[in-house]
Amino acid sequence: MNRKPHREICSLCHEVSRIGFLVPDEVWKLAVHVSQQNDIICLRCFARLADERGVEWDKDIKFYPCSRITQDKIIKKSRQYREKEDYQKAIKKLKDILEISKGKVNEDNKKMD
Ligand SMILES: [Zn+2]
Repeated sequence: MNRKPHREICSLCHEVSRIGFLVPDEVWKLAVHVSQQNDIICLRCFARLADERGVEWDKDIKFYPCSRITQDKIIKKSRQYREKEDYQKAIKKLKDILEISKGKVNEDNKKMD
């Protein structure tokens, strides 16, 4: 079963989705029109759509509330992680360059012998 996270700005009411939720794919597909299935939809709009279509949306739902502070922390952490990754990549590149130039120096030395 593939579950999708839904949060951030709701594409229907344009409100911030502060209570993230997960529903089974089949519930999502029954409740949400195919043209909107890849959009972010807040809990209120989702529940309204599901009710309109007679979908039992509360059966397997999971919630993950996300305050602004928590969201900022997550963004900060992922940014730090990315920066660390970039740093490690840069170091590796530098080492490769050093190795290549060292090899070249060795070759040059051999030629001189
Ligand atoms: Zn909404």
